[in-house]
Amino acid sequence: MTDRHEPGFRQSVDLMFNRAAALMKLPPGLEEKIRVCNSTYTVRFGVRLRGRIETFTGYRSVHSEHMEPVKGGIRYALSVDQDEVEALAALMTYKCALVEVPYGGAKGGLCLDPRQWEEHELEQITRRFAFELIKRDLINPAQNVPAPDMGTSEREMAWIADQYARMNTADINSRACVTGKPLNAGGIQGRVEATGRGVQFALREFFRHPEDVARAGLSGGIEGKRIIVQGLGNVGYHAAKFLAEEDGARIVGIIERDGALHDEAGLNVEEVKQWLHRKGGLKDFPHVAWHAEGARLLEAECDILIPAALEGVINLGNAARIRAPLIIEAANGPVTAGADEILRQKGTVIIPDLYANAGGVTVSYFEWVKNLSHIRFGRIQRRQEEARHELLVRELERLSADKGLGWTLAPDFKERYLRGAGELELVRSGLDDTMRAAYQSMREVWHGREGVTDLRVSAYIVSIQRVAASYRAKGL
Ligand code: GLU
Repeated sequence: MTDRHEPGFRQSVDLMFNRAAALMKLPPGLEEKIRVCNSTYTVRFGVRLRGRIETFTGYRSVHSEHMEPVKGGIRYALSVDQDEVEALAALMTYKCALVEVPYGGAKGGLCLDPRQWEEHELEQITRRFAFELIKRDLINPAQNVPAPDMGTSEREMAWIADQYARMNTADINSRACVTGKPLNAGGIQGRVEATGRGVQFALREFFRHPEDVARAGLSGGIEGKRIIVQGLGNVGYHAAKFLAEEDGARIVGIIERDGALHDEAGLNVEEVKQWLHRKGGLKDFPHVAWHAEGARLLEAECDILIPAALEGVINLGNAARIRAPLIIEAANGPVTAGADEILRQKGTVIIPDLYANAGGVTVSYFEWVKNLSHIRFGRIQRRQEEARHELLVRELERLSADKGLGWTLAPDFKERYLRGAGELELVRSGLDDTMRAAYQSMREVWHGREGVTDLRVSAYIVSIQRVAASYRAKGL
């Protein structure tokens, strides 16, 4: 994946940070204070499994405590190491600042392949890892709040929440110790789809600005655009599904672990996902060409490329061959610093990770607020809102009848207008608003600041400014 000129992941994030910081006038020393990772805790623990003691290595890294709690997912993958966790924690700091989610940045990871373990074994491992972190306040509703990431899901979050509650029986806010939980364990509607939904909202906002779209050499809207997506996990699947089903995009390529499917006519995301689920790979998917060398499809012609899997997949080795004029980084760090430079020179527009995939942590924030307020969003006002709407509709109908105007409201208007917003609608509205506002703040810098050439550096400038302001306010 990397050659000898390619820096590691954390260094790559630092290089991107440095490019932005060079365009800013930060007080002496503050730049370094913001860039460095505050702490990384490494734990090695044993779990008795399959008749022997298995030793696992886990991490929880805190990048910045300019706001607390700190926030960031826990990843289960064999690639997990200190460098990766620290890079991801740094990205969380910048991501939260960009979308105005009031957290510092953190990340955790466990070095294991979750597919090698049975569910009950994973529960034992997760509870043990959580125990180690909880007893050091590295999981705590006020200080450090994990969430799902690659290799983890609602299931692991439920185990973590339960483990915390067992160890803190009198903590009334214990559910807020982790987000991304299942609904019946204190989760929120719309969290599972949130990151993919955020990618969709980010693209919609980008396409609202013809000037920005033109920078990528494209025109028009999302409809009819040819998309290649890498990774049909939670993020890639939802993003591709929503963009195809709701916005009329054509998913012409899907890249997975075992290879890629390519079909200019457009792939049915749902069918491919079902196949993947049943067969464990894309091979033999009916009537579509399958290519064993999946990564080559990153280089194929398309309008929008969505890397939604691992970091570093677009690197010095393939950047020059990438043909997509627009890349939206659904994964964290899919483009290395070196590749970023090559792509910028080619004029490729990149919607950067710290913005593009911020939907997950945004809805995590809503979940945390819900947990702390101990009430579902919309529960108090929904029916009252409906009653007021009904009043208006009735009055319009009465006026029309009295004056003989013959107005009739379209049935779908009535049905839609009368329906008060439930939790899912509110979550989507909050996420949409967040993605629009963050894009506007990046865009102002992109178009209005001397020396700024791209969205990534704009995103970093906005974030660094906000983190710096919060350090300054604290008197640090
Ligand atoms: N793991 C996700 C991310 O990388 C979500 C983090 C969260 O919700 O705290 O942004």
